[in-house]
Amino acid sequence: MQRYIDEVDPLVVDRAAGARFFDVDGRSYLDANSSWWVSTLGHNHPRLVAALARQAERLCHVSLAGVTHEGAAKLGEELVAVAPPGLTKVFFSDDGSTAVEVALKLALQMWHNEGRPARRRFVALDGAFHGETIGAASLGGVEVFRKPFAGVLLECIHVPTPEGDAPSDAGYARAFAALEKLLAEGSDTIAAVVLEPLVQGATGMRMYDAAYLRHARALCDRYDVLLVIDEVFTGYGRTGTMWASERAGITPDLMCCAKGFSGGMFPMAATLATRRVFDAFLGAPERAFYYGHSFCGNPLGAAIAREVLAIFREEEILVKAQPKAARITKTFASMGEIPGVSRARSLGMIGALDLSKGAGYLGELGWRVYAEARRRGAYLRPLGDVVYVAPPLTITDDDLDALLGIVEESVRAALR
Ligand code: PMP
Repeated sequence: MQRYIDEVDPLVVDRAAGARFFDVDGRSYLDANSSWWVSTLGHNHPRLVAALARQAERLCHVSLAGVTHEGAAKLGEELVAVAPPGLTKVFFSDDGSTAVEVALKLALQMWHNEGRPARRRFVALDGAFHGETIGAASLGGVEVFRKPFAGVLLECIHVPTPEGDAPSDAGYARAFAALEKLLAEGSDTIAAVVLEPLVQGATGMRMYDAAYLRHARALCDRYDVLLVIDEVFTGYGRTGTMWASERAGITPDLMCCAKGFSGGMFPMAATLATRRVFDAFLGAPERAFYYGHSFCGNPLGAAIAREVLAIFREEEILVKAQPKAARITKTFASMGEIPGVSRARSLGMIGALDLSKGAGYLGELGWRVYAEARRRGAYLRPLGDVVYVAPPLTITDDDLDALLGIVEESVRAALR
């Protein structure tokens, strides 16, 4: 198999600011994917750097075991204030994978505590990606990631992702019917349905309509199955609203957030829960959730995560991203016409192009585009043959124009 340029000649990054990082030779690269979708407010945001330094002077670490601190308590309140209504309880962890792992363990233990221990299976979408730890990886629907661990993963049933341009399309009807059949027949053994809302990021920026989320919420209510929404990629404004779930007007039972949560400064994440889930853990000691990460609610992470929320509020990040999102939509729609591009799509601050049908992660065209973009000063890491941008929401207009120009030139050059 071909060796890709990033394997043989990785970029050696020295520093970063805004939507750019710089290598050791001083060359600048526009960061098309916010460094794994994390640096949502741009690299080294001065307010986040200052918040980290301030907190480091005062308190760097303390466990949340019979101890608390103002930062963690306030962060919990501030998250609940912006979360979909009804998510009133917060559990802190380290990253997207552990935020999902916590959601799965909460779901399993909730049913155990409620005397329904047979509810052990999970449901996820085809092609799902929810993280690297064994529980989160169990939900994964990408065969090449799953295969080495087959046999030790939690049981997960994959259902079709809705396909088509509109909820009236046959692909939606099939997806609705498959989920309904599964829950109608098997809800006694199902703990939760886990969904990445509106866009499945890692599997290739597959987008679907909010109608599916509403349908899933209604079915989970009907069959008393928990709905876990993984906002690790989509949260913090990526799709245009603070949470993608907001666009469907739904409240999940559990919601996972990470990545943009701490703006690329510190690994920290949270799983939000409803009162119903929380109440299942009250009472005798054995009903408690025994899950104490070393870094749960770490003061440095909490200070940064609070500053992230303050920046969203005070700097009107979502409002200011709107014209940028429109620019991405327009450019990607026109790139859809380039010969060799099979499909283009966009949502909020995401734009994606398919360069072939079905090559998945092992496709090589995306890597050709990557090499072209790198020569032109952009870091445009593909998902197989899917070329996409998910830049910082704060990218300047000039940088966004430059980035979109490089994407277009690189796609044309690679397909020539
Ligand atoms: N959920 C989703 C939707 C993700 O995209 C990712 C990471 N790409 C994760 C979970 C795992 O997050 P992390 O890499 O921070 O563990």
